[in-house]
Amino acid sequence: MIPDQTLNIVILLMNVLLGGLCFGVARGERPAPALRYWGWGLLVYTLGILVVLSSGLLPPSLAYFCGNALITLAPIIAVRALFWHSATRLNPLWALVVVLPAIGVLAWNNFFGEFRPLLNFVAPTLVAIFAFVFAALRLLIHLPPDVRATVRLVAIVSLIAAALWSVRLLFLTQLIPLNDPNHATVVTVALAIGHLLVTVAGTFALLAVEVRSMEQQLRSQARRDALTGLPNRWAVEERFAQELARAARQHIPFGLLLLDIDHFKRINDVHGHLAGDAMLRCIAAALAASKRSEDLLARVGGEEFLLLFVGADTIAAQALGSRLTEAVEAIRFEFEAQQLSTTISGGLALYPDDGANWQALYATADVRLYRAKHRGRNQICGPWNAEAG
Ligand code: GH3
Ligand code: MG
Ligand code: MG
Repeated sequence: MIPDQTLNIVILLMNVLLGGLCFGVARGERPAPALRYWGWGLLVYTLGILVVLSSGLLPPSLAYFCGNALITLAPIIAVRALFWHSATRLNPLWALVVVLPAIGVLAWNNFFGEFRPLLNFVAPTLVAIFAFVFAALRLLIHLPPDVRATVRLVAIVSLIAAALWSVRLLFLTQLIPLNDPNHATVVTVALAIGHLLVTVAGTFALLAVEVRSMEQQLRSQARRDALTGLPNRWAVEERFAQELARAARQHIPFGLLLLDIDHFKRINDVHGHLAGDAMLRCIAAALAASKRSEDLLARVGGEEFLLLFVGADTIAAQALGSRLTEAVEAIRFEFEAQQLSTTISGGLALYPDDGANWQALYATADVRLYRAKHRGRNQICGPWNAEAG
């Protein structure tokens, strides 16, 4: 299977080191099953090679069979790591379709039939080629949306691994004959080094996917409010910058509606903070159900929400405001056998008429929110009644 003793030792040590690295990272607070599978793949491959090399200690046919069976299983375990990052799940039993025939061939070759050394190499190699091509194609077809680029890199490494195994198969089966022994040595050493590099590249590509998806997870957690599940102020300011750039480019107006629950302190004071929290979640859900999918609703303070909506004129904004206040007014929230209800007030500012940046629009919306409170609450104040006091 392997060319030169020094290279063999380097490959085996590298496999153990990289496998250990994978297990070490996977032991962190965030479980990383892909890295654990990859680590197991490397260790099972190493063990398989060691068992084949132990043919002096064990009966040779047993050593060849067990070693090559482990070598057959290793890429299957390793590609399970790759499948982990595919956007869709795959029943792991698919592997039996290739593993069982290969193990059958190994058993027949080593125990029953006429022994052909080449078959012990061909069976695991065909499984490895199939597994790596299959994994690469599945990853490329089902790229996960949040870590596309890094998973594409993993798929490319998988294809290179399959190519290397294929080239090795062509040389060893003499389909590409190598008559000059010097050339044969160069080719086998080059292939072994290639194998080593692909293993290193695969490990680091999987580590990169793990780092990227952790980054995405932290990003999305940092932009979400824990109580209501809505985006938070950070997320809304980020989206505001995007809308501002788009509005400036395409001259599409957008609105910023600041909402504040009326007399919310009373709910806390009378029914307790748990009731207040549950009511907040209920109001967040009602507001979210009343907005369009392209609008962004965020919780920007204790009992304050902000809606960013695009492409609305004054009349449409007024209608949206009424829809939201009616949705909150309609809530009948059951808490400890009592029905709680509330209302909400809002102040609306439109880009570009009321300002061309976050501070200006937010300040205008805030002034109008206070106006809505003074006018009796349960209403939205906007440019249509800004002067009405
Ligand atoms: P107004 O109509 O003038 O807005 O009256 P209000 O009582 O809603 O306003 P005020 O600012 O006096 O009180 C807001 C209350 O919101 C105070 C605080 O206890 C409550 N609050 C803020 N964040 C939370 C939260 O996360 N959970 C709960 N239960 N209450 C919260
Ligand atoms: Mg408030
Ligand atoms: Mg309030």
